[in-house]
Amino acid sequence: MTIPEMYGSLVFNDKIMREKLPKDIYKALRKTIDKNTHLELDVANAVAVAMKEWAIENGATHFTHWFQPMTGFTAEKHDSFINPIGNGEIIMEFSGKELVKGEPDASSFPSGGLRATFEARGYTAWDPTSPAFIKDGTLYIPTAFCSYSGEALDKKTPLLRSMEALSKEATKILKLLGNTEVESVTTTVGPEQEYFLVDKEDFKKRMDLVFTGRTLIGAMPPKGQEMEDHYFGTLKPRVAAYMHDLDEELWKLGIPAKTKHNEVAPAQHELAPVFDTTNVAVDHNQLTMEVMRKVAEKHGFVCLLHEKPFDGINGSGKHNNWSMTTNTGVNLLDPGKTPAENVQFLVFLTAVIKAVDDYADLMRLSVASAGNDHRLGANEAPPAIISIFLGDELTAVLDSIENDTFFGEKQAVAMEIGASVLPHFMKDTTDRNRTSPFAFTGNKFEFRSLGSSLSVSGPNVVLNTAVAEALSQFYEILKDVPEAELSTAVHNLLKDTIVKHKRVVFNGNGYTDEWVAEAEKRGLYNYRSTPDVLPVFVEKKNVDLFVSHGIFTESEIHSRYEILLENYAKTIHIEAKTLSDMLNQQFMPAIATYLDSLITLADKKQKLPTAITCKTELKLIEKLTAWYDDLYEMNEKLIEDRIKAEAMEDSLEAAKFYQSVILADMENIRAVADAAEAVIPEDVLPYPNYAKMLFYV
Ligand code: ADP
Ligand code: MG
Repeated sequence: MTIPEMYGSLVFNDKIMREKLPKDIYKALRKTIDKNTHLELDVANAVAVAMKEWAIENGATHFTHWFQPMTGFTAEKHDSFINPIGNGEIIMEFSGKELVKGEPDASSFPSGGLRATFEARGYTAWDPTSPAFIKDGTLYIPTAFCSYSGEALDKKTPLLRSMEALSKEATKILKLLGNTEVESVTTTVGPEQEYFLVDKEDFKKRMDLVFTGRTLIGAMPPKGQEMEDHYFGTLKPRVAAYMHDLDEELWKLGIPAKTKHNEVAPAQHELAPVFDTTNVAVDHNQLTMEVMRKVAEKHGFVCLLHEKPFDGINGSGKHNNWSMTTNTGVNLLDPGKTPAENVQFLVFLTAVIKAVDDYADLMRLSVASAGNDHRLGANEAPPAIISIFLGDELTAVLDSIENDTFFGEKQAVAMEIGASVLPHFMKDTTDRNRTSPFAFTGNKFEFRSLGSSLSVSGPNVVLNTAVAEALSQFYEILKDVPEAELSTAVHNLLKDTIVKHKRVVFNGNGYTDEWVAEAEKRGLYNYRSTPDVLPVFVEKKNVDLFVSHGIFTESEIHSRYEILLENYAKTIHIEAKTLSDMLNQQFMPAIATYLDSLITLADKKQKLPTAITCKTELKLIEKLTAWYDDLYEMNEKLIEDRIKAEAMEDSLEAAKFYQSVILADMENIRAVADAAEAVIPEDVLPYPNYAKMLFYV
């Protein structure tokens, strides 16, 4: 099979639909997909028949409604197509009703109190805007998941709502600016995914990796990432084979995997697809993470998607490249050759700036998790302060609007690379700034604060809704302006918006302490941890935003807030328990083993006929005994504190306690354990150390 033949071969995509569906049915389905119109049951029935036939031809025996509950993972329940017809015979059946609606028992999914146990029923509803696909002999139908009374219990429903809100507001303002052909606007996303690969056998021996996805103790080897030799380095054959297989599996599922390379940390890699409509990109990213794990198994690896698997080297993030495109194919964030004259671009650009400034707290919230707390604000990932990088040219354009000065268009500069055999190319008008959480990169924004394991849904819900709100405020200001005065009114609006919101623009180095001080002066938020930022979800300004655009109801917000708090507490709770067990069952016994052999050695030495000292043994015995005792006491404290946390009724109070007390207990333990690990022989540890895991693949 050639690659173009392989690509999308397991997807019920437009090409297959056109081939398999009667013309009128195809047209009706297309209308539903493109214009969000209601789908009639007879259309659904016809689509179901075609889908089933195609699925069976491709080896499927089952179908599943695939959904994204608040666990952050995907969920599925498989039903076979078989239907007994008597005489011990069956036929393969799949109806329109089964396609459009499912009724999984929802009682065991997180609902944050939304759903009482007596209302266990949940519904899944087909999302025709994301194509169905076949995986492991099952037809997967992407669906939204809600409760019996219609409240969203998943990550897809609010995302679809936010895309609609943005489309509505963007179309309104475009019409007002005289762009009358545009009927809808979609947001687009390209998520760059980072991950680690470790050997499966190593992984299985590490209790901390198995239960928490990250190492809770572990001393750094002599070498980390300081030589900068891994980033974009040659792929090791085993890793290259993995990436090759991964690409093929993703391509079959119609996921346009494009770029792959080694990342900064040893054993760390990245994969980036070509961008797609946000909804599809979110589904594809969930699938990508799953396929990454599955293919890893086949290659004797485990793929780690945790934000901070190893202390002392970089963790993993996910860059959310985001833009807006009209149904006529125009990228609204493309500045064109002369951005200063491109009013449409400037309106959308300033709307994004306003949105980010007004709702920086929600953007920070949308990337908050126990795992990501290890990265944000450390010198490897953008700071917890949300700011925008625009680059010199756009900043100059905005300056000229603010000050009513003429903007002398800068010519694109031909890049001189000093070797005439190399082709000359034009320098990008924006340079790269890796330290900014939200950077303009030519014709899109790159939101860089996301953690590697996060569903990209949440951050895009916030972005879409905040920008929709900014556009809607612009519309209110401009809607009654007579046509002759419109251009002055737009100019004034741009100017006012820049003056009011330019504090969020920062082109400098976001990793410095000076920026933290400067940001505070500018009045920007700096939420350092997840429990710090979660309460902003239920603040009036933010509830109003979501409710007014129909993204969440008030009770949906409160339920999600509860889920986030609980999730944070549970994560640290499991980490604390794992650490206690690892100390008691593995690490302390390892110290004891070494102590025992030192004592035996000293004893034997003393019995030798010649007088030699046991100086070193005694020193080591003393040092290790002190650490051993410390670890025991510290673990006792951790266990006591954990019991206190468990008894707390208020979930915010509990989350704060986990953050300030339990995490601190764990860090104190780690400092001692890592010092001890550097002294004891490798082979008394019942699990592989950092050196083995990071450098021996
Ligand atoms: P880099 O971040 O290294 O500059 P690229 O510019 O190639 O890399 O793009 C990174 C990601 O951004 C890719 O997934 C790409 O498809 C995506 N991207 C490009 N254009 C858009 C767009 N208009 N909307 C959303 N994502 C985009
Ligand atoms: Mg990038």
